Amino acid sequence: MNKNPYEVLGVARDASDADIKKAYHKLVMKYHPDKNPGDKTAEEKFKEVNNAFDILKDPQKRAAYDRFGDAAFAGGNGASAGAGNPFGGGFSGFAGGAGMDDILREAMRGFGFDGFGGFGGRGSAAAQQRGRDLLDTVTISLRDAYFGTTHTIKFSSNVACDKCNGNGTDDGKPAPVCPRCGGSGYVQARQGFFAVETPCPECNGTGHKISKKCSKCDGAGVIHKQRTIDVKIPAGVQDGARLRLAGQGEAGMFGAPAGDFYIDIHVKPDDKFERIGNDLVVRVDVPFTTLALGGEIDVRTIDDTELSVKVPAGTQIGARLRVRGKGMPNPQRSGSFGDLYIEIAMTVPTKLSEKQKKALEEFAGTKPSKKSGWF
Ligand SMILES: [Zn+2]
Ligand SMILES: [Zn+2]
Repeated sequence: MNKNPYEVLGVARDASDADIKKAYHKLVMKYHPDKNPGDKTAEEKFKEVNNAFDILKDPQKRAAYDRFGDAAFAGGNGASAGAGNPFGGGFSGFAGGAGMDDILREAMRGFGFDGFGGFGGRGSAAAQQRGRDLLDTVTISLRDAYFGTTHTIKFSSNVACDKCNGNGTDDGKPAPVCPRCGGSGYVQARQGFFAVETPCPECNGTGHKISKKCSKCDGAGVIHKQRTIDVKIPAGVQDGARLRLAGQGEAGMFGAPAGDFYIDIHVKPDDKFERIGNDLVVRVDVPFTTLALGGEIDVRTIDDTELSVKVPAGTQIGARLRVRGKGMPNPQRSGSFGDLYIEIAMTVPTKLSEKQKKALEEFAGTKPSKKSGWF
């Protein structure tokens, strides 16, 4: 699994090419094997930095990462790996597996191509007929992100027809392979010097020849249906994370694999807690006497428990007191938590009794006189 290339280079998501280059050069100098002979950690970092730069320097790879995160570069389940790749070997070496295929499919959709039809893919018909991927966005609160939550999504999509088992046939058995194209869905035609592949007219590019169609789906093998899925959102999920539910997208045609369901997570900013990675920052007003003399304050944590925190005498405004393990759960390591930082703000008393006023004046070492001030 690749590390987040933005984090590896320490740049923002919207960093310019120049900034990325700069960050890369700095890190590559720092971790260069020549400078760190025999240092395994540096060597590992050096590789990470190079991998990250490899992704971010290339606009296409960067866009792919932004869209799909790790799925773009992970091996994936290989269900239809590479098969329907309309760009031939153009991306080879970049990534194999279903992840890349998804990106290509996404790109095709963007151009108005939708699996079927005259796009010059060379894969088997089954690869072309893999179900479409679906994408939805779920917005949750920071508290939900802390505990993890289950979100129910209602939507409608193609599912395999239950009458014909997704085969589109009257008897529910797999449809015979199209005799004209041999199941590829394409036939070759000559145009001058070139041999051009066009969708098979016999089977409309499906690769299957159905003599008697299923009455429920009219031979499509899929029907449109209302669906509900419960999405488990893991504790500690970061804003912008993309979850992938393999096989939960639209049903494939003629028994081809279903697409995947992607869920983009948006974690709403909290009005009390600021999140920095897995750490949390909370601002707490403390009476200035407590800051000066030291004492204890009560702080409410994100999981709504009250915490008694010691404030050392002489604590300054803006200081951050760290409480270990009271931040967000680390989604990468279960049972591990970030820290909570209590940022000290100060309250100034507005109503003082005569006695308190006197005490403060004494502390300040001055006695206000009628002559001071503007008048
Ligand atoms: Zn055919
Ligand atoms: Zn059917």
